[in-house]
Amino acid sequence: MGKEEERVRAVGVDLGGTNIRAILVDRQGTILWRERGPTDAHLGPETVIDNIVSLVSHVLERKGVARELIEGVGVGTPGPLNPHTGVVYGAPNLPGWEQIPLKERLEERLELSIQVENDANVAAWGEYRFGAGRGAQSLVCITLGTGLGGGIILGGEIWRGSAYMAGEIGHMIIERDGPSCNCGNRGCLEAFVSAASLRVRVREKLKDGGVASAIRPLVEQGEEVAPERLYQEAVKGDRFCREILREAGERLGIGLINVIHILNPEVIVLTGGLMGAREILLETALKEVEAKAFPWAALRTRIVPGELGDDAGPLGAAALLFAKHQEVEL
Ligand SMILES: [Zn+2]
Repeated sequence: MGKEEERVRAVGVDLGGTNIRAILVDRQGTILWRERGPTDAHLGPETVIDNIVSLVSHVLERKGVARELIEGVGVGTPGPLNPHTGVVYGAPNLPGWEQIPLKERLEERLELSIQVENDANVAAWGEYRFGAGRGAQSLVCITLGTGLGGGIILGGEIWRGSAYMAGEIGHMIIERDGPSCNCGNRGCLEAFVSAASLRVRVREKLKDGGVASAIRPLVEQGEEVAPERLYQEAVKGDRFCREILREAGERLGIGLINVIHILNPEVIVLTGGLMGAREILLETALKEVEAKAFPWAALRTRIVPGELGDDAGPLGAAALLFAKHQEVEL
């Protein structure tokens, strides 16, 4: 058997509300193959499980990898879950997902070792093993997407908490009577710093007909304006767009200060769609950190953009399988 054939691999799966992505990865984090398919979430858990099974099987067939060389399959999935039993308690974007024994079901069907983990945790694990957090012992990964997800690595391990609910950075309450959050509370960080909250803010502020902005016609046509677009307009001189991003950046800064003060991690990795506006968002957030965080704490925490983009999740999911054997192999 040649070197290529001997390389141990794992499959990493990212289960999203719209798409499922599966990648074949070797121990060094090299992506050898990738596939994407629809989640079909509206058809219920059984269809979604079928879709995961056929996507993973397809990846193995296409690449022609012997099953003995596959360490297993790691699945990053939304919602609270028990990573030891692999039971998913519920998932906001996946209708009908209540107490689904995902690990057991996939093990039966695929006859491979399965690890199930929260999607924000696998993104953190991906950046920790292969991305912006390589070499650190402690890392907090904040995903600024439609919502705001968080994953925490402490002492080289995912910090899951007593009920596997740790890392809900998006639901850190930063303003007692702030805007409503999807979780039912008010003033959560996510209600200020997420693509969804930016859209709400933009619409609300444009209700004042006197406010001028290049994006007004788009919003009035019902178009969803991406954070990147806000950034582009801001750079062209659109004061409204700049102000929206600056406000979000200030709130992000407050969230970062709280993370630094509580955990003082070596690295905070910021990733997700909002990073398309990072020049303004991050610049403002870092100013806030510089002004208010304990300097001796902030000095020791690097705040950096993610390096893996959308691959952080599936890479981290695959790497869950390697972690167990790390000491033996490396
Ligand atoms: Zn909340």
